[in-house]
Amino acid sequence: RGLKMYFPIYTGLMRRHTGDVKAVDGVSFDIMPGETLGLVGESGCGKSTVGRALLRLYEITDGSVVINGTDVASLGPEDLRKARPQMQMVFQDPQASLNPRMTLADIIGEPLNEHTDWNADRKLARIYELMDAVGLNRRFANRFPHEFSGGQRQRIGIARALALNPRFIVCDEPIAALDVSIQAQVVNLLEDLQEKLGLTYLFISHDLSMVRHIADRVAVMYLGRIAELSPRDALYARPLHPYAEALLSAVPEPDPSRAQTRNRIVLQGDVPSPANPPKGCNFCTRCPKVMDLCRSVKPDLVEVEPGRMVACHLYSSDSMTAGSTGATEA
Ligand code: SF4
Ligand code: MG
Repeated sequence: RGLKMYFPIYTGLMRRHTGDVKAVDGVSFDIMPGETLGLVGESGCGKSTVGRALLRLYEITDGSVVINGTDVASLGPEDLRKARPQMQMVFQDPQASLNPRMTLADIIGEPLNEHTDWNADRKLARIYELMDAVGLNRRFANRFPHEFSGGQRQRIGIARALALNPRFIVCDEPIAALDVSIQAQVVNLLEDLQEKLGLTYLFISHDLSMVRHIADRVAVMYLGRIAELSPRDALYARPLHPYAEALLSAVPEPDPSRAQTRNRIVLQGDVPSPANPPKGCNFCTRCPKVMDLCRSVKPDLVEVEPGRMVACHLYSSDSMTAGSTGATEA
C-alpha cells in the first residue's frame, strides 16, 4: 500500500542531498494466494525495485507490505530474519546469483544452514528432495555452478528459493538470460511447482508474451507507478490505459485473424527521469491522449470496470467534464 522507494541524490563537494530518484512512487496492489501477478513495463520503470522492496532487500521509503498478515516494511532485523523463509526470490541471472565456489548441494542447502538446526543427514535428504522437485539429477550434488547450462543453473536457483517452503516468490526476469529454447521449460517448471506447492508469484518481466502465458492478472508500470492492473485476458484483448495500449501494441498477436487489425503505437520522446517526474500524470509528456488536466493532477489507480484498475483521467468522472472542453455551459 502506497509503496515508495526513493534513492537520495547527493551532489557537490559537501555531498548535499539535492533530490531523490523516485524509482517507485506510490504503488498499491494485492496478490491473492496461489495467484501469479505479472508486473510488466520497460526497463527502468521500477518493477524490479518493487520486487526487491516487497522482500525487504531494500529499506522501504514509505508504505506498507503486508504478507500473510505481517507488515514486513516495519519489521526489525530479528523479526525480518524470522519472516524471511516465507518469501523468496528467483533472480534474473542464475550465473551471477550463484556462488561459483560452492557446490550445488551447498548452494541449495545454504538457507537450511541459516534458518534450521538440522543435522547433515536431514539437510542432505531435503537437498535431494529439492533437486528432484526441480528436475536436477542427484548425481550433480557435488558439482559446481559453472558445470551447468543456464537452464540448469536457473533450476539450482529455484531449488534454493524453495528450500524453506516459502509461500510467496518474486521471480525477477527469471528467463530473460536464458536461450529461447530453454525459457519455456523453466516457465513450465515454475507453473508445475506453483500448482504442487500452492505458491504465489510476482512474475516480473518485460516479455509480454511470456507474461500472457503465465500470469492471472497483470500490472503495467510506467515511471514508478502502476498505469493499469487488469485480469490477463481483459488486458491483452483491450488495454484501457494509453500506455498499456502502446506497450501491448508491440506484442505479436497469436490469432492471425486479429493480427491485421492491430496498429502498432509508437510513442514519441523519452521516458522522463525518475529524479524529476512530470507534475501531473507520469505519462503526460508522451501520451497521445493527453488533456490539460493531465499536466497538473496525478490520476489515482481506481477501479473503472469490475476487476480493472486504471490510473488515467480519461476514466475518471471529473475529467469527463474537464476533458469535454467547450461544454462548460451545459
Ligand atoms: Fe494520458 Fe492523461 Fe490518461 Fe495520463 S491521465 S494517461 S496523460 S490521458
Ligand atoms: Mg529489472
